[in-house]
Amino acid sequence: MTNQVNNPKTAEWQAMSRDHHLAPFSDFKQLAEVGPRIITKAEGVYLWDSEGSKILDAMAGLWCVAIGYGRKELAEAAYKQMQELPYYNMFFMTATPPALELAKEIAAVAPEGMNHVFFTGSGSEGNDTMLRMVRHYWAIKGKPNKKVIISRVNGYHGSTVAGASLGGMTYMHEQGDLPIPGIVHIPQPYWFAEGGDMTPDEFGIWAAEQLEKKILEVGEENVGAFIAEPIQGAGGVIIPPDTYWPKVREILAKYEILFVADEVICGFGRTGEWFGSDFFGNTPDMMTIAKGLTSGYIPMGGLIVRDEIVEVLNQGGDFNHGFTYSGHPVAAAVGLENLRILREEKIIERVKAETAPYLQKRLRELADHPLVGEVRGVGMLGAIELVKNKATRERYSSDQGVGMICRTHCFANGLIMRAVGDTMIISPPLVISNAEIDELVSKARQCLDLTLAEIAG
Ligand SMILES: *Cc1c(COP(=O)(O)O)cnc(C)c1O
Repeated sequence: MTNQVNNPKTAEWQAMSRDHHLAPFSDFKQLAEVGPRIITKAEGVYLWDSEGSKILDAMAGLWCVAIGYGRKELAEAAYKQMQELPYYNMFFMTATPPALELAKEIAAVAPEGMNHVFFTGSGSEGNDTMLRMVRHYWAIKGKPNKKVIISRVNGYHGSTVAGASLGGMTYMHEQGDLPIPGIVHIPQPYWFAEGGDMTPDEFGIWAAEQLEKKILEVGEENVGAFIAEPIQGAGGVIIPPDTYWPKVREILAKYEILFVADEVICGFGRTGEWFGSDFFGNTPDMMTIAKGLTSGYIPMGGLIVRDEIVEVLNQGGDFNHGFTYSGHPVAAAVGLENLRILREEKIIERVKAETAPYLQKRLRELADHPLVGEVRGVGMLGAIELVKNKATRERYSSDQGVGMICRTHCFANGLIMRAVGDTMIISPPLVISNAEIDELVSKARQCLDLTLAEIAG
């Protein structure tokens, strides 16, 4: 069944989709039947579709459009760079100015002692780079057995073979025989879903202790690194209990293991600090970046590396790794302009002082809704847990697809909120205003009402 469309162009594009396109994270057959919604333009925090509907994008695209849509400065930076030097590579002892200037600017905002960047085309490639660099690092140090990377169930680290293996999404592992060897997973610090009768603080300690248990099981001599998102994004905006990160830091301090923060979502201001690691007081050895680095205007990712690691890598000869588009000059020029805007317009400062506290206060008002079991959030991230029983945190059965019902109502009513199972999540552009936050929260409430009416009826 095809949705009713009024614009003949919409039907044409949907036919092209059906006849020629294979879409990421989609059921091809279902998409061919229903047809995609076609997004045609955007400005600020709003999108427009090909039917003329205006939609508040409370997901900032896929977590990436930090400075909002429609910033001409980024388009001009790309145009200027394309005319000057559209492409040259960074292989074989050459370099281009924008990538070097961007590396310097990233180092300026990165945590103390993290002064080098390896550029990639995406977050997934950043994590692939991490895996190869960690193993190379330990080999140079004469510990080639330290290959195993410890990651977490329901973490998200991208969709390449290494990225999907590092991630802990079982529905991704089931396709293509993943994870690859040398990657092991520990439970996630998701109190609402998995905390049982423990208090959040007790559960945070328990979840952190699973790291130590795994280190001992695999053997410290075989473990190269632990990777984690400061806050799990795609897993459902999972904010660890307060006890979790301090306990993890305590455990990591006991062992010779690298700590990798996947900052693809948290990086560049999402928590109200430059990095999620700053927000939690963590001191990683490597940080994967992408998304907010260019506000999604052009693809780019990377890996920020601590000085001590670079000193070791300097002793190792060639690092036989890199991408055609590592440090792409046009992407770097866009990244530079994006960072300039974040800095000069004090966007992250405003998030921290003004708009994030307002968003968090308004979002929490939804906790009184009969469907809502918990509202949580940090900075410009939020999650709303939909439940059958508020007191016991009991969910609706998964066949009811309550999250998808809610998402569909949101979509139909001009709001993009994503559903991860029955967890509704948001991650709006960092530039969202208080008035736009009011609109977001009132639309969210309206859609919760519609969802409740649909499942009750
Ligand atoms: C999106 C994401 C990635 C993957 O980035 P891509 O650019 O899609 O390859 C990796 N880690 C996290 C935490 C992400 O959210």
